[in-house]
Amino acid sequence: MLRRRTGSVDKAKTGTRAQGNLQVRTGLRSRKSVLGTVLLAALVPLVLSSCMNTEQADVSSVDPAEAAQRTAPEWTGSEAQGVYDIGLTLRKDGSFVVTTSIEVTNRSKDSWRDIGFYLVPNALNAEATPDYEAGSDAEVNISSLKVGGKPSNYTLTNNALTVDLPQLLKPGQTAEVSVNYGLSLPENGPRLSRVGNNYYLAHWYPMLAPYEEGWVLRDYDGVGESYETGYGAYTVRYRMPQAYLVAGSAEDGKIRAVSSGVVTGTDIKDFYLALLDPEEWEFDTRTAGSTQLRVFTPKGAELLEETADMAADTYAYFSTNIGDNPSPEVDLIANDGYMEYPNVVEVAADAEAQRPVLVHELAHQWFYYRVSSDPYDEAWLDESITEFAASLLNTERLGSEEAGFADARTASTAYPTKTYANLPMDQFDDDTYYSTIYGKIPLLLNDFFADHGGREGAIDFLSAYYAEFKMKQVNTEEFKAFFEDYFEGDQSEYLNSWLR
Ligand SMILES: [Zn+2]
Repeated sequence: MLRRRTGSVDKAKTGTRAQGNLQVRTGLRSRKSVLGTVLLAALVPLVLSSCMNTEQADVSSVDPAEAAQRTAPEWTGSEAQGVYDIGLTLRKDGSFVVTTSIEVTNRSKDSWRDIGFYLVPNALNAEATPDYEAGSDAEVNISSLKVGGKPSNYTLTNNALTVDLPQLLKPGQTAEVSVNYGLSLPENGPRLSRVGNNYYLAHWYPMLAPYEEGWVLRDYDGVGESYETGYGAYTVRYRMPQAYLVAGSAEDGKIRAVSSGVVTGTDIKDFYLALLDPEEWEFDTRTAGSTQLRVFTPKGAELLEETADMAADTYAYFSTNIGDNPSPEVDLIANDGYMEYPNVVEVAADAEAQRPVLVHELAHQWFYYRVSSDPYDEAWLDESITEFAASLLNTERLGSEEAGFADARTASTAYPTKTYANLPMDQFDDDTYYSTIYGKIPLLLNDFFADHGGREGAIDFLSAYYAEFKMKQVNTEEFKAFFEDYFEGDQSEYLNSWLR
């Protein structure tokens, strides 16, 4: 994610403004996105499965078991593995009915009494999250929760949904958890949001929590990404009372307004889906290598061609210089979201802000999505490296390091910075998080490469790092070890000056 920077930094905390015929969201207090757990996917060919997107498809005709089997990942190093079958129905009143069936496999060495999920919308209200800012609160009403087809006890506190199991789930065993609920989106929310007749579904379903000798479930914190989930396989069936343009983490195919459809995908982390009012959006596509880029901008904003061209140039640059990214389709939505999801990015809705935002968010398709890390304890691993990679590209495209690193420099001087980057989120406040993670660390990395091969040396390093950790979970210790191996001589003095 990237903090809004148009106007003063503090504007990032104010409400909503209208721009052209699109209401844009400015209530973004928080930063960037998710992660998963360790994957051994290097062993396995990466397949993002194809999808169907059939107008007026009979969504009930999809057999969940068959769909899950079709999309089941062959890997997994994750200790908790999820195969999701999700039904999403938009009601005429703008609320949703969500039905989920999640096959959870225990890949750990422990026997489980319960299963932990992040159900983030439950924390998106002023009571659970005092600094939460949106036009309204999210609402979640669970109507049924079953394990293996039988009602089960559960607790739902803040964003933690813990489901009791009728018997111990032993290593290697699978349990089927189904949760059905009504969901109302916050108006002009920071991520999960309804803006007029547009619906941005972020962290909207029960996301299997990481398991590390216990479920990792933290209270929601809008400063950054306090929630996380591993890579999973998804079948998502949606139905709406009118036709929408659909842009999601799975492959959606040809852009057209539809009122129902089914999409499937594997190796996806938090599954995102946007429903866009066809009256308000224009769109175009570009191709970068084997990836189709689908670009949505507000009608009347005169952003489409420029955004689409920049997306194609950026995606091709990172593919060529950092490494191949196997996504067949990546969607860009210019809704001022400043946020990344697997195969989808929300970018700026104005031309002036677009370059730093678009390049940063697309870089996350490499660092956050394909190289995963813990966004709570080590947010620098995706945010700072993403901003560094983005600044390198911008240096090349804008012709000077001063221009390329302008955002990082602004961030680093806006507020005091922390000495160490790898601090848990609760040891930052909103401002020091921004100045340290988005400012100081990208600049520190750039300073290092001034003596180690310059921009070319930096790109070579990022490329080798990407190759090493692609489809894996990396942590600070592993980063340090890789860094020490990569460069001649002892690098501990440099590394220990900003990593504890
Ligand atoms: Zn980011």
